[in-house]
Amino acid sequence: MNLNKYSRQIALPFIGIDGQICLFQKKILIIGAGALSHSSSVYLATSGIGDISIIDFDIIEESNLSRQIFFRHEDIGKYKAEILSKYLQNNNKDLNIQFYNMKFTEDIFNSMNTKFDLILNASDNFATRKIINRISLKHNIPWVDIGIFQTKANFCLFNPGYGCYHCLFPDINESNENCSLMGVLSPICGIMGSFAANEIIKFLVLNPTSRINHYFNFNFMENIFKEYYWTKNSDCELCLQYKFLLEKKVLTTKNTNEILFEKLINNSDNYFIIYLDEDYINSKQFLNLKGHNIPFIQESIYHFFDKNKIENLANKHYFYNKKLILICKFGIKSKIVSEILRKNNYYSFFLNVP
Ligand SMILES: [Zn+2]
Repeated sequence: MNLNKYSRQIALPFIGIDGQICLFQKKILIIGAGALSHSSSVYLATSGIGDISIIDFDIIEESNLSRQIFFRHEDIGKYKAEILSKYLQNNNKDLNIQFYNMKFTEDIFNSMNTKFDLILNASDNFATRKIINRISLKHNIPWVDIGIFQTKANFCLFNPGYGCYHCLFPDINESNENCSLMGVLSPICGIMGSFAANEIIKFLVLNPTSRINHYFNFNFMENIFKEYYWTKNSDCELCLQYKFLLEKKVLTTKNTNEILFEKLINNSDNYFIIYLDEDYINSKQFLNLKGHNIPFIQESIYHFFDKNKIENLANKHYFYNKKLILICKFGIKSKIVSEILRKNNYYSFFLNVP
């Protein structure tokens, strides 16, 4: 990986070299090679996502050129996925870009035989959304959906275990289809693809649950942007159907959740430190560790198997640009709590107090 290429991004505190390496190791599947795919894929690639696959059976037509900005007149009649992928590969030699000139189905997905970290839906039909949703639940893969209708758009990131597309839209059907025939304003595709790439990068580096279950709605005519919070439907037949598969996968996740004191000291701005015991510290604002004064907050946890209390604590203190560091008197409670948080997708560590 060419670190100089990504130096402006590495300079961001929440990315750094670790975050850049993390992005480079990620594999993303993009369904569709149309307008949304152009703006999203080019930013995902130039941000250093190491492995990108694009699938589309469609052929380039003249009417595509106004929105699908990396196609040229001489590309008319050629496969969209192939031309877009070659454009990305030629401009990002360090990445692995694959293309599939075929219609996306569950069988095709299985034949790819790749453990994707995320699927981005850049297609415009509901049948494909249903297929992706099912694959997401079955294989525990987060996915992103973007919808555009004339001058309006929406965005949502679905993470298995936190609710699915069917929880949010139980009544959607094929009659809602073919929005693209109603027309679309070209720059909106660029904005929404870029927005998706930005959300995906944050999600892949930080894995924050704070942004899951948020549905974004954009009205570009009036410039009104709204954000709605939605929750998992406990009766959702799809979530229930795949519940046990998900639980099994979470239990087998390997936790490497201890942070070394030296790493904490060198990057203390990146961390948010919570002391889980009550006794310490006599209302001091700093923990004194090996002569270093480290700011912290105190949140006593008595019953550390109380998952609701622990998740409330994490929701209260979790930010995009901070990792949670848990400390306690004997190093046992902090280890267990950080394991529970990780199983709930919070990026947390425990520190054995030196
Ligand atoms: Zn569901």
